[in-house]
Amino acid sequence: MSAETLESVQELLNLEIAKVKALKAANACKDEYIPIIAALKDLKKRRDAFLKNVEDRVKFPVNREALESVAKRRFFFINGFEIYGGVAGLFDLGPPGCALKNNIVDTWRSHFVHRESMLELECSILTPYDVLKTSGHVDRFVDYMVTDVENGEAFRADHLLEDFLEKKLEATKDAETRKSLKNDLDNVESFTLAELGERLAFYDVKSPETGNALTEPVPFNLMFATSIGPSGNTPGFLRPETAQGIFVNFTRLLDYNASRMPFAAAQIGYSYRNEIAPRNALLRVREFQQAEIEHFVHPKRKDHPRFAEVADLEVDLFPWENQLGSREIVRTTFGAAVAEGVIDNQTLAYYLARTMLFMHSIGIVPEHLRFRQHMPTEMAHYASDCWDAEINTSYGWVEVAGHADRSCHDLTEHAKATNSKLVAYERFDEPRDVEVVEIDLNKKLIGKTHRGNAKHIFAHLAGLDDDAKLALANELTAAGAVTIASPVGDLELTADMATIATVTKRVSGESYTPAVIEPSFGIGRILYSVLEHTFYTRPDDEARAVLGFPIGIAPIKVALLPLSANAAFDPALADIRVLLEKARITFKVDASGAQIGRRYARSDEVGIPLAITVDFQTVDDNTVTLRERDSMTQVRASVADVVAAVGSLVMGLKSWETIRSELPHFSTATEE
Ligand code: AMP
Repeated sequence: MSAETLESVQELLNLEIAKVKALKAANACKDEYIPIIAALKDLKKRRDAFLKNVEDRVKFPVNREALESVAKRRFFFINGFEIYGGVAGLFDLGPPGCALKNNIVDTWRSHFVHRESMLELECSILTPYDVLKTSGHVDRFVDYMVTDVENGEAFRADHLLEDFLEKKLEATKDAETRKSLKNDLDNVESFTLAELGERLAFYDVKSPETGNALTEPVPFNLMFATSIGPSGNTPGFLRPETAQGIFVNFTRLLDYNASRMPFAAAQIGYSYRNEIAPRNALLRVREFQQAEIEHFVHPKRKDHPRFAEVADLEVDLFPWENQLGSREIVRTTFGAAVAEGVIDNQTLAYYLARTMLFMHSIGIVPEHLRFRQHMPTEMAHYASDCWDAEINTSYGWVEVAGHADRSCHDLTEHAKATNSKLVAYERFDEPRDVEVVEIDLNKKLIGKTHRGNAKHIFAHLAGLDDDAKLALANELTAAGAVTIASPVGDLELTADMATIATVTKRVSGESYTPAVIEPSFGIGRILYSVLEHTFYTRPDDEARAVLGFPIGIAPIKVALLPLSANAAFDPALADIRVLLEKARITFKVDASGAQIGRRYARSDEVGIPLAITVDFQTVDDNTVTLRERDSMTQVRASVADVVAAVGSLVMGLKSWETIRSELPHFSTATEE
């Protein structure tokens, strides 16, 4: 007997689940379930233990070759500019891919934007240099690149090392060597430039195709540079993320929200990254759609009013300590994770929970979704906690959404760079006495000394917080003068120009810079993961592929199938079309002469969940059959009842089981 694998145990489990479903459908009595439930429990235990043991290096079991063939043949997505030879990292979505993407985006919008009353924006993709200089992208948005010394082919240094280590690990038996290989593999993502260079040299990694030597790794900025306008004097970039558009509009958003805090803004749009080596279909591309949320909150009060709604939900977490040690995934609740300090705060945890529910609703298999915490070395210095939603795919675990608590960093930096006040105001319940540092300026003297440049001194001083004002006071006392850097050069502020003192003031509120919690989703990665997680083949026929999309995101909801091209079916077809159009339910007529079973198979491949068939009986009594994709069961009822049933299925008001209990069953030996 061959050894049990995750795939084989999952397959057995699926068979038992199918048996239970069949018993349910046949209204079987309780006794009939007993042996199957026992087997089911045992298999589930074996499967879960397996998932735990094999931890994070087991890839999602799917026949990727078959899936890719369906995706290409049915035109879900295709390499961009194919007839010109294609361009790496650019993809076009065909009709079902486009509809699937739109439905995922619509689901995202209603799940996040509408439900949480977020403020949605659409900002410019072309972004001026200064904005991305302030955000840190100009200086730090880099990956490390090595190139083949002979042919110049470029590789991402960390990916190359990762691939090399994975292969070496597979081929190595010695326990000590395996341990050190695994250790490097676990740390690849957080290696510095020097560490990467050192490891690549240590393992003597070569260019994978040619075996040629590689250059030392160098930083490569991922932004696409351009210039805005014909003069060439205004440098800019295609934005590498949608977030900056939200930050720069903070004051207007707060104003629109009647100054109420906390609040969240969202943006769905395209971002561009000149990836060194795009790979893995839609998972690493150069142009991709993001859906980003910036939740603005008081930095000291990050509780969430709706946290109780998600506190008891179970989740798989991969905390950073476990990534270094046990590599164990922790199954816990969001409530416990916050209480134990594993997740930093309620708002961050609330978003993780909402992300989890979103992923489940679009067909991601729950056991293959986890949240991985960033290592302290992986996070930006200002971030306080970050968790990536990761989905297991046939390529391994992939980050599909980041969730970062970015503290007050972004607003503080943009405020500094533009001399604007990006702050919110909090009114106290009772007025309070507080100590503030005030600067009393001798404006006459400053004006006389600096004339037209005086405004730069005023702007600089207005931007100082209390600590900076006190530091300035000390410097003025010690040195008698300080130099202030301004856009027109250095300006001197002398001690007689400013009196700085701490005073007690009665205030009714205070201004503060909000912290921001940022969930950031990559739509293409999610779409690809959905394709993998919903793809299966019929148990009795491996050649029959099905994309089992949940009905809400299915590109087309109904296949409309006349039994043959006979004109007698036309009136009923026309009636059904009008009813579906009125209900805004997408459908596809397949009136080809192919056998009905062939046509069912075709609609399964594009993931159409329902099929209405018009046959000779329809001509007599105006009834049609309705077939559900996954169970392949059918009901037969009047056109009006069937269209009503389709409507309630599409809107998620009823399940197929309910429809089956309401409408007469239909079965035919030749149906498939
Ligand atoms: P990041 O700003 O790097 O955290 O990215 C946010 C999200 O955008 C990620 O979780 C991915 O889902 C997605 N993403 C980032 N880079 C790419 C890429 N090159 N191709 C496709 N999706 C990407």
